[in-house]
Amino acid sequence: MSSIIDGKQLAETIKEEIAAEVKILKEQGHKIPHLAAVLVGANPASQVYVRNKVRSCEQVGFESTLIRKDDSITEEELLEIIHELNTDEDVDGFIVQLPLPNHINEENITLAIDPKKDVDGFHPMNFGRMAQGLPSYLPATPFGIMQMLDRYNIETEGKTCVVIGRSNIVGTPISILLSRKAKPGNATVILCHSRTKNLQEYTLKADIIVAAIGRANFVTADMVKEGAVIIDVGINRVDDATRKRGYRLAGDVDYAGVEAKSSMITPVPGGVGPMTVTSLLMNTLKACKGEVYS
Ligand code: NAD
Repeated sequence: MSSIIDGKQLAETIKEEIAAEVKILKEQGHKIPHLAAVLVGANPASQVYVRNKVRSCEQVGFESTLIRKDDSITEEELLEIIHELNTDEDVDGFIVQLPLPNHINEENITLAIDPKKDVDGFHPMNFGRMAQGLPSYLPATPFGIMQMLDRYNIETEGKTCVVIGRSNIVGTPISILLSRKAKPGNATVILCHSRTKNLQEYTLKADIIVAAIGRANFVTADMVKEGAVIIDVGINRVDDATRKRGYRLAGDVDYAGVEAKSSMITPVPGGVGPMTVTSLLMNTLKACKGEVYS
């Protein structure tokens, strides 16, 4: 029987800590952290994510600005907004919610964001600094996972970690962070992906599995070593006629099957997801305090 890594609870604890710090900043007459978010179009998932981010800012006492634009916005117009945010001294950090409409080149947008304000940690400057172990804004989801490992005292040093998925926002950065000479870190990391042959051979060796694939219930009990720690990043919609909305959320791990075999496991929902927003707040606080780029 495994124990749950409760991301929802941990996210609340961290938000309380941030709120306490903001209160002190306020009392001492310092600037309050200010996060801006740019939302283009009406993608339902993006709307939910951005709403959560803005609500979380309010919860911890940050200032927040939401800039909503119709998906008819041109790339030039969006670049102009980014330029304004880059130069707005009151804004400590900002994010441009992805995905963007097809006529906008996401790479151009990411590159236009001032790395000092890139609290999503997607700019190659922050990615490169992360890879070299320099101070940087860590991408939100991997940062959230590192927080979970740290706060739950999950030993990573010398452990075999199998990461499934090599995206720029989850799989690749978490594989770098877990292998860095740091705590948590110092793990032996195996990065698996869609071209990996005999995936199970690797996962069965894993002390820690990070699943970031985007396929519901992909990791099954026969792929997991007894006592492994399971970090399930996946958020997948699965049809469910018993639910009012017609679907339920499922992770990349077959929770019901794997739970009994693992020593610790993140649920979906309530695991990695809530930690992602918390990481954004932590990065914004760092930006305000000039802790990454001084
Ligand atoms: P992605 O589609 O960019 O990448 C998926 C990765 O899975 C790819 O690198 C691919 O090589 C790998 N893959 C696909 N099929 C595979 C197979 N059969 N065997 C091994 N590897 C395979 O996805 P992403 O953006 O990294 O997201 C992954 C999942 O995590 C999605 O469900 C997404 O919704 C979720 N997600 C959650 C959060 C959060 O806050 N919890 C944040 C980001 C993404």
